[in-house]
Amino acid sequence: MQHLRKVSFSRLKTFSHCPKQFEFKYIQEAPSIPTNLNSHFGKSLHFAAQQFVHSCLENKQFPTLGYVVEQFSNNWKESVANLQQQFGQEHLEKLIKVSAGTLMIKTAKMQMKNGPSEQSKLFGLEYWNVLGTQILEQFYAREKDSLCISGANTRIFDASFSEFDDSSWLRQYMLLNKQFVQYASYRTPLYTEKDFEFKIEEHTDTFLRGSIDRIDKEWIYDEKSNQYKENTVLIEYKTDISPHSLSQNIDQIYVYAYAMKMELDLPVSKAILSGLRTGEEVVIPIQEAKMKQTEDWLQETVVQISNTKEFIATPSFSKCKFCDFKNICPSSAQRGK
Ligand code: SF4
Repeated sequence: MQHLRKVSFSRLKTFSHCPKQFEFKYIQEAPSIPTNLNSHFGKSLHFAAQQFVHSCLENKQFPTLGYVVEQFSNNWKESVANLQQQFGQEHLEKLIKVSAGTLMIKTAKMQMKNGPSEQSKLFGLEYWNVLGTQILEQFYAREKDSLCISGANTRIFDASFSEFDDSSWLRQYMLLNKQFVQYASYRTPLYTEKDFEFKIEEHTDTFLRGSIDRIDKEWIYDEKSNQYKENTVLIEYKTDISPHSLSQNIDQIYVYAYAMKMELDLPVSKAILSGLRTGEEVVIPIQEAKMKQTEDWLQETVVQISNTKEFIATPSFSKCKFCDFKNICPSSAQRGK
């Protein structure tokens, strides 16, 4: 079965969420009509964050903030132009209007520097550009801080950046000059957009594939031993981290941690969900018992899909609200809304 040759976390999760949605998306390949702009905006932010790390790894130095913002801005413009071309100006305006509500709530929560008068421009696309720029300014400051400690240590780290893959010189320096160290841990990126693909089970032909946003090496200073302890950290970016999607995000983290162990030979004991909009981080310790559950879920879901003759809809008000097929699905709880 073509739809089971190569599967991703989101493909398997879509089946668990609603088998009918899985059928529309991956078997019928029905055209999906976007219901809001948030995911497109998030993808452009995500792209800029990836380009930041990519540039660090390629050039062994931080890119400028202007470069990061430009990556976002070009990607966002292209995304909006594609939407306009595919679905027309009228639908685009509808999307801007629908998305502005959620954006306004989130914007208010962020206590935007520019104040409430700026919020009146929410119905214009330009405002999203301004918001994206502000989010990336904060992202850039945070990343520079966590990657290069802070203050005086910024210079130390910058000097050692040419040894990006092996910061032993820096570690030695920090051990000898502890009075300068403001934070007891720091990270350096190892990979960005790290692809994986492996057989879910030896006797099946189904491969699990995906791409991990970022893998960092972390050093945590241990005062007792006067040593830095090394750790590999899996990082996934999310535009927002909400209680509503947290459990799904954690499931995704575990699938990726499983992939790191099985395919990349990079066992991981800690993962971070990094919220781009607010900068909040959720640290997830990776536990063996949940890893085992994840392995079982992967195998069981593949078997369930392959045994499914009829993809039954499992509608609910909240599920159907954000479903791209709500207007063609006969079982939708949100048809025509
Ligand atoms: S509209 Fe609802 S029932 Fe129909 S496919 Fe989407 S989530 Fe499933």
